[in-house]
Amino acid sequence: MIAGRFFDGRTSAAQPAWLALGADRMVRLEGIAEPRYVPLASVRISDRIADIPRRVEFDDGATFETADNDAVDAALDALGAGGFGRRIVHWERRWAIAAAALAGVAIASWLFVQHGLPRLAAAAAQKVPPSLDAAIGSEGLVIMDRTLLAPSKLPAARQDELRSRLAAMSAPLADGHAYRLELRRGRGLGPNAFALPSGIIVLTDELVELAQHEDEIAAVLAHEIGHVRHRHALRMLLQDAGVAALAFAVLGDIGTASSLAVALPVVLVQAKHSRDMEREADAFARQWLREQGLAGSHFDAMMCRLAAGDDAVAYLSTHPPLAERADCARVR
Ligand SMILES: [Zn+2]
Repeated sequence: MIAGRFFDGRTSAAQPAWLALGADRMVRLEGIAEPRYVPLASVRISDRIADIPRRVEFDDGATFETADNDAVDAALDALGAGGFGRRIVHWERRWAIAAAALAGVAIASWLFVQHGLPRLAAAAAQKVPPSLDAAIGSEGLVIMDRTLLAPSKLPAARQDELRSRLAAMSAPLADGHAYRLELRRGRGLGPNAFALPSGIIVLTDELVELAQHEDEIAAVLAHEIGHVRHRHALRMLLQDAGVAALAFAVLGDIGTASSLAVALPVVLVQAKHSRDMEREADAFARQWLREQGLAGSHFDAMMCRLAAGDDAVAYLSTHPPLAERADCARVR
């Protein structure tokens, strides 16, 4: 017997009732004042839709309602009355569950890549031992020298001047990073700057030549220091290499330094810093300029000059839209 509620069709009152489908294809309804015994063919049984209560409608407008969908299905199946229609309903349910599960996995994966992975990478980057950080930085520079960079043609005295500027800027930070300025001609990269793990900052000759004020270069250096302090390059590498690299990073396996460093040029030049990372580096640069009593317009001027030059394409391909970052109308 299937338990449910009976509505006589005249009043809204519900009465507890029990329904049975007999092998004789007769419907028996009991527990009510006037029990019913009618042919299955004379009632209409609603289709199964999720967990909505099933309705058995009698031809005089009375209805029996039950939440026990499985029992109704089982009874119909026993009679062979479920048939093709019921199988479709079943299929639809399975398909809907499968589709929902698939969508769930897709959404979870997307959320993980968008939010989980960057967070894990940031956490793992904090646990990377300094020796591994340094190994990735110096190996990464070797690879960049082979592929993207050429020796600087700036006069030695000018190079020394710039190195002293970075040293003067970074020493008071005492943040544990071994800051080191490397000057290179940029081949196809044009005016550009990169922050490698462990504190190696690469400036291209072209960027140095583009600057019209020493503080514009300082603004770029401050931006790159921001990237170093937030360990952005390492985070991008770990994110890029995914979960396996995260695990290795946490375990501190020095053997992975080479495999991570190989990806550094790609990550720095092609994969781009995320907008969040640029914002963090920009925020550091602007705050540093403020603290030093230097004009923030040096930062804007340099950014806008980078965006306006012939090499804008190369620079912009490694940086997010400028409109978010500098007010070019103001500095012109
Ligand atoms: Zn940047």
